[in-house]
Amino acid sequence: MSILKIENLSKTYPNGVKALDNVSIEITNGMFGLLGPNGAGKSSLMRTLATLQEADSGSAFLDDINIFQEPEELRKVLGYLPQEFGVYPRITAEQLLDHMCVLKGITKKSERKEMVTYLLDKVNLYDKRNKSVKGFSGGMKQRVGIAQALIGNPKLIIVDEPTAGLDPGERNRFYNLLADVGQEVIVILSTHIVDDVRELCTNMAIMNLGNLVFQGAPQTAIDELKGKVYQKIISRGELEEYGKNFPIISNKMVGGQPLIHVFSESNPGSGFEQVAPNLEDVFFSKINTQNVIV
Ligand code: ADP
Repeated sequence: MSILKIENLSKTYPNGVKALDNVSIEITNGMFGLLGPNGAGKSSLMRTLATLQEADSGSAFLDDINIFQEPEELRKVLGYLPQEFGVYPRITAEQLLDHMCVLKGITKKSERKEMVTYLLDKVNLYDKRNKSVKGFSGGMKQRVGIAQALIGNPKLIIVDEPTAGLDPGERNRFYNLLADVGQEVIVILSTHIVDDVRELCTNMAIMNLGNLVFQGAPQTAIDELKGKVYQKIISRGELEEYGKNFPIISNKMVGGQPLIHVFSESNPGSGFEQVAPNLEDVFFSKINTQNVIV
């Protein structure tokens, strides 16, 4: 069992953007979802934890490793799938993983062979081991990305926006793989896709504008909203008017018309009906109407 303790992390970029504002989280084994809209600060946090950039202040420990003081120690037990794992050369999956093993310091050829076979099998690409990675589908590439993140039995695995660009079938296969991996180690899944977190994560945090606006179990957040979400289908021309009069959590098109969800302690009238809250409501309520929901 490992514990990742992040305390009071702050980071302001030279252009003045405060990407991390005093962020503190504690994460243990299992899948942890870090959810937030684009620009929330997720990648900044992930890159900082992966020791690719420095924070202005704060600390982070993985068990007894002081991450910012001993980055080499952290890297030995870190698996990282960055947002842009962009290099897919014209070499086979087996060759690529073998090369990554060399970079991770596995010098013995027989040891690498064993590791690569294990990884290819784990991500279900053993049959494709002699095919060029360049020709792989998006989902297969992401599985190669996970395979390289698993080299050397990491204690902490960070995956940054891994399902963007995958079709539903690929996304499902990828979920299953992550769920499998996530049992024994800490996996942080950073994403703006609510489904990713709903499907996979036992614990989560929501980030917005560099701040953590929620942390806990997804179901806890959903329970907090029970009885407080109302919906109504309106016409497109009414959207602005409703926006002025009701705290709209979300609005999505259903059959060409906006379906709005609003947050309200009691029935807002005007033809709204109460609905069971879902994780999407949680997400949008935390990032859109922070002033409404404490
Ligand atoms: P997310 O991963 O949630 O989309 P990021 O961490 O990428 O968020 O970005 C957080 C904020 O910091 C955004 O406003 C982004 O424009 C800004 N930002 C990210 N990286 C840099 C950088 N290297 N220099 C300046 N601003 C940056």
